[in-house]
Amino acid sequence: MQNRTLNRRRMLATVLAGGVVPFASAGGAAQECDADLRNALLWAVAWKQSAAEYRALCYQAYNVARMQLDIALRTALETQHDKPLAVITDVDDTILHAGSYWGHLVANNRDFFDDAIWDSWIPQNLVTPVPGSLEFLLYCEASGVEAFYVTSRDQGERSFELALGNLQHLKFPFADPEHLTVIRESSDKSPARTRLAASHEIVMLIGDNLNDYKRDYYLTDVDQRMALMERDRDDFGRKFIVLPNPTDGHWVRAIFGESEPPPTEANRRKLKTAATRVAWDGLSQ
Ligand SMILES: [Mg+2]
Repeated sequence: MQNRTLNRRRMLATVLAGGVVPFASAGGAAQECDADLRNALLWAVAWKQSAAEYRALCYQAYNVARMQLDIALRTALETQHDKPLAVITDVDDTILHAGSYWGHLVANNRDFFDDAIWDSWIPQNLVTPVPGSLEFLLYCEASGVEAFYVTSRDQGERSFELALGNLQHLKFPFADPEHLTVIRESSDKSPARTRLAASHEIVMLIGDNLNDYKRDYYLTDVDQRMALMERDRDDFGRKFIVLPNPTDGHWVRAIFGESEPPPTEANRRKLKTAATRVAWDGLSQ
C-alpha cells in the first residue's frame, strides 16, 4: 500500500514536470507513456534493429545484384567489352550498417539525426556489414569485377582515412585509396560516376538513396521526387539496386528541405504532415 502511494506520488510529480504524457489506448483504458517513449525514431530504428524483414530485404537486394552481375558477365563474354566491368556502391546503409549509432540516439532520447554524435561515432569502427553486402562484393572480386565505393561523408580532414578504415576493418575487398571516393563538399556523386564510367563498364549502382543513381532526384518536393522514381521504375533491380533505409537520406530532405533537419517542434509537425499525406478521417457518426 505504501509502495503504491509512493509510486502514485512519484508518477504525479513526473506528470507535473512534463515527463509523462497520459493517453488513451485503443481499448479506451487510460495509460501513461513517458514522453521519451514517443520518440519519432522508435519505429524506424526498432525495424532496422529487430525486424528479420529488414535483413531479408537486404539479402533480397544483394541476391538480385548477384543475378544481374551474372547476366552482365555472360553478356560481356558475348560482346567483348573493351572496358573492364565494375560496380559502384554507396557506403552508409548500403554496405555499412550503423546500428549502434541509431541505438545510441534513441537510448539518449534524440529523435533526429545528430551530426556531432555521428562524427564521434564513425572513428569507433562500430560499423557492421549490411546483410549480404560483404558476400556480394567478395563475389564481384572473385568474378573479376571491380567495386568502387563512393560516399559523401564529411568528418573533416579525416573523412577519407576514416571511411577507408571502416571498410578495411570489415575486410571489404577493394578497400584501398584507388577504389574509394569521398566527396565532402557536396552530395553530388555524378562527377565520380562519370569519371568511373570513362574507364569501366558500370554494371550497376548500389545505394539506399536515389541520389546514388542520379542527381536529379536531389529535390525538396516529395511529389516531384516520386514522379522521377516512376520514370526510372524499370531500372530498379536491374541497373539500380536499392537497400532499405527508413531513418535518413534525401527522402528526408524532400520532406524537411534539408537532409539533416534540426530537432524542432516545427520539424516534428512537418514529419507528422508527411505521415498523414493520406489519412482516413474515421467512421462518420
Ligand atoms: Mg547511404
